[in-house]
Amino acid sequence: MTPADHTGDTSTGAKLLTAARDVIPGGVNSATRLVGAPYVLTEAAGAYVTDADGRRYLDYHAAFGAILLGHNAPEVDDAVRRAVGGIDLVGWGVTEPEIELARLVVETIPSAEQMISAMSGSEAVAQAVRLARAVTDRPLILKFQGGFHGWQDAVARNVISTPERAYGRDPLSRGILDDAIESTVIAEFNDLDSVRELYERYPERIAAVILEPIPHNVGALVPETEFLQGLRTITAEQGSLLIFDEVITGFRHALGGYQQICGIRPDLTTFGKAMGNGYPIAGLAGPRALMERFSSAGGDVLLAGTFNGNAVSSAAGIATITYLRDHPDFYERTHALGDRMRTGLGAIVSELGIPAVPAGFGGVFALYFTEGPIRGYRDLLRDNDEAYVAFHRRMTDRGFLMLPLALKRNHISAAHTEEDVDRTLEAAREVLRSVR
Ligand code: PLP
Repeated sequence: MTPADHTGDTSTGAKLLTAARDVIPGGVNSATRLVGAPYVLTEAAGAYVTDADGRRYLDYHAAFGAILLGHNAPEVDDAVRRAVGGIDLVGWGVTEPEIELARLVVETIPSAEQMISAMSGSEAVAQAVRLARAVTDRPLILKFQGGFHGWQDAVARNVISTPERAYGRDPLSRGILDDAIESTVIAEFNDLDSVRELYERYPERIAAVILEPIPHNVGALVPETEFLQGLRTITAEQGSLLIFDEVITGFRHALGGYQQICGIRPDLTTFGKAMGNGYPIAGLAGPRALMERFSSAGGDVLLAGTFNGNAVSSAAGIATITYLRDHPDFYERTHALGDRMRTGLGAIVSELGIPAVPAGFGGVFALYFTEGPIRGYRDLLRDNDEAYVAFHRRMTDRGFLMLPLALKRNHISAAHTEEDVDRTLEAAREVLRSVR
């Protein structure tokens, strides 16, 4: 992505960005954070963020989905404050918050009997991949075109690929060994034949199938029930593990993640993002028999990490999951607001005759600038990026912060209201009229 050009911009945010670019490569600490103003955010509360020049934005970006209860949710911040000053980081034995967090995850995630803590989704996925290879003694990982599972080598390929590179060799980065790239094979979402073909091509070589149960890194491809059931059957027959990467769907769509909704039990589940409402916490869960392969239980798969299970992250995780457990209406509300947004966007694009379709699930929504129906990544290759970018830019200018990439998604949190959604729809109507 080309870095944003802020030449000639005299705002405080632009000045701070210049200072940032001097000492941080490109001025930001992760790809896709810089696509245009606002460059610097200084405050966050509930559903809103404020930039360095005092402009307020209704936030659907939600830190790529890490914010679920709203920014600075008091329940979570209070728990973190209480944790600071208590037992901090000891690296010896286990602390009570770690036990409490694992107990909550085991109680809420249907396929979980044990869990390990990590600091980020990428780490949790790295552990899952290594565990799957160790358990099966096989090298390959099968992922789907469009799925994103973090920055680590084993899975960093084929996310938002151009038509020329989709399904082929499309690493996200230089510096990844060929062996790592080639050890991940690519199938099409909602297409069991593409999975069967890879099993035929690589018999007894595939350690695991990993998927986002709803690939939210390309908006929202909603899985067909037969597809998920088919994956469960094929992986079991073929002796591979099924890994649900619930880093986005986990805790967001249901307390027990998408596996609770679809009723299919993966072997391993990774989660992160929303589980700590903005604090760094992630995890990997699964049945005892698999999890006890980790070296912490005397097994042969290394588990290490200085900050794993630290007090602040554990407190944030406990507070977030406890809130969600005790407020089941959170799911009704965010699903209803998501439906309202999707229905509203659908009405606007059909009234204006724009070839676009709203997509999403629960509180997550996206607007694809292409004709439906959308089943798999193949259908997204027709998406009109330019239309999305124009839509996104104008929505930002009006004070609505959304994910900048055409195929990404937006998030409704506990802090968003019906009025927020209606205001967004009003602005979207005007913007869409102008980008038509
Ligand atoms: N898995 C999924 C589904 C994700 O969306 C992401 C991040 O966007 C990751 C894993 C990696 O998580 P993290 O950025 O916390 O390393």
